[in-house]
Amino acid sequence: MPIHLSSTFAQKSPGVLYNKFDYTRGGNPTVDALEKCLASLDCAKHGMVFSSGCAAITAIVSILKSGDVVVVGDDVYGGTNRLLNKIFSKFGMTVRMVDFSNPNWKDSLDEKVKMIIIETPTNPTLKVFDIQSITAISKSKNIITVVDNTFATAYLQSPILLGADAVLNSCTKYIGGHSDCIGGVITTNCNELKDRIRFNLLSMGGCMSPFDAYIFLRSLKTMKIRVIQHCKNARVIAEYLDSHPKVDRVIYPGLKSHPHHEIAKKQMRDFGGMITIFLKGGFKEANTFLKSVKIFTLAESLGGVESLIECPAQMTHMSVPPEQRKILGIDDSLVRLSVGIEDVGDLIKDLDQAFDQIK
Ligand SMILES: *Cc1c(COP(=O)(O)O)cnc(C)c1O
Repeated sequence: MPIHLSSTFAQKSPGVLYNKFDYTRGGNPTVDALEKCLASLDCAKHGMVFSSGCAAITAIVSILKSGDVVVVGDDVYGGTNRLLNKIFSKFGMTVRMVDFSNPNWKDSLDEKVKMIIIETPTNPTLKVFDIQSITAISKSKNIITVVDNTFATAYLQSPILLGADAVLNSCTKYIGGHSDCIGGVITTNCNELKDRIRFNLLSMGGCMSPFDAYIFLRSLKTMKIRVIQHCKNARVIAEYLDSHPKVDRVIYPGLKSHPHHEIAKKQMRDFGGMITIFLKGGFKEANTFLKSVKIFTLAESLGGVESLIECPAQMTHMSVPPEQRKILGIDDSLVRLSVGIEDVGDLIKDLDQAFDQIK
């Protein structure tokens, strides 16, 4: 697909277009190709791409109005949390944060709740929620269910087939896969929902640039083999970490010890590339470990071909209030790994030498 850099398109006669494009904020051939490709990967009819995952969330939440309530997981992505609690709250919308693994979450539902946003697996504690059983409840109450599928990707999980009204992804992560581009996408089968989100995209202006659309189209050609390799490496590393004397606990949905392993087996095709561990010790041990890795890069973000490692309490989840972090179990000994596609032997050797630095 060529990169169509034009911001505007010549018209045949006033208001009569040569093809469906008139102005790139509202549509562009390169962007359109990416939208079609991402929709088909999610088994959806419609796809809409945005300048970032956060722009996508902004557009979909903006279909609501003052007085409406959004229900989200208590460990929802920090940017989503900030958007809902600091921006949308100013316009009269309210957020209720729940733990979807506790059946009591249903008590949060009343006639004011218009949207549920689910992430599964979650960040960074990798909880897995049964999408089908949540959408069964929301459907019966006419609540729109959005699944943020960023951690799983379309290759591992198909929320639309499990009843979700819309699927959201930060393209920045596994879709891009090379840590070099920011973008977001929403897919849906519902025509009305598509019209309302498309209207917000056009009006609010969070559109994706044609160059970035080209980069994501190119990345998608290898997403399947990248994700297969991420999963393969992550499984080996999770098992290695699970038996390491300096690791207190490993959270990986593919391990039988994971409390939601059976749900993960049921709704995911494999278990993903994200691993969370609790090191024995605390701040000092974690800092030594994180400073000592050489192949893993100490950085935020995830989903790239290169392995990343981070400490959420001091990095990605700094903005989550300490009391909330405590409830979620995000302490100084928690380390999150985004396992890349490098040689797994090299990755394990790297972790091994970093563990040796912890005295
Ligand atoms: C990164 C991320 C986002 C936000 O996406 P950006 O592209 O950074 O704006 C949303 N949800 C999840 C789960 C993410 O990991």
